[in-house]
Amino acid sequence: MDLREHLVLRAAAAAAQALSYRNFRVGCAVYAWKPWREGDDLANYLGARWRVFTGANLKPDPDTQKFCAERSAINASRSAGYTKIIGFAVVGKPQPDDESGLTHSTLHPCGVCRRTLGALPEVSGETRVLTGSPQDQDILVHEFSFEELLALHGTRI
Ligand SMILES: [Zn+2]
Repeated sequence: MDLREHLVLRAAAAAAQALSYRNFRVGCAVYAWKPWREGDDLANYLGARWRVFTGANLKPDPDTQKFCAERSAINASRSAGYTKIIGFAVVGKPQPDDESGLTHSTLHPCGVCRRTLGALPEVSGETRVLTGSPQDQDILVHEFSFEELLALHGTRI
């Protein structure tokens, strides 16, 4: 199994932990990196620590603020001191985007998540984004750079 497939499956599994009053389940898996020793960088990645963090969306009641799977997973990675997001997968049923109004065949991170991720130092335009949605017995997956994802919705970093 390659890393992309692993991330998509971890995101799909995380979606089972979602809590949504309207049964809208989303999971996210983030592939994150932090230095093992001071001075390590991505060019010396064999000496670094890699880990997958997952998250699920949380909106138990219509009157509560939504807390998305993407921000949940990335906050876990950030809280553990991981300083670089290589990529992440998000899996859920597609729905019209809350800001751009566009509907794609896979679920994209929402406008709040796109802005939040774009403002974090551990995410760059190069960060890989896998968007997935269940289809028949499989998961349809599209891949973008974070910059390409923003451009699809008419924004940029
Ligand atoms: Zn979101």
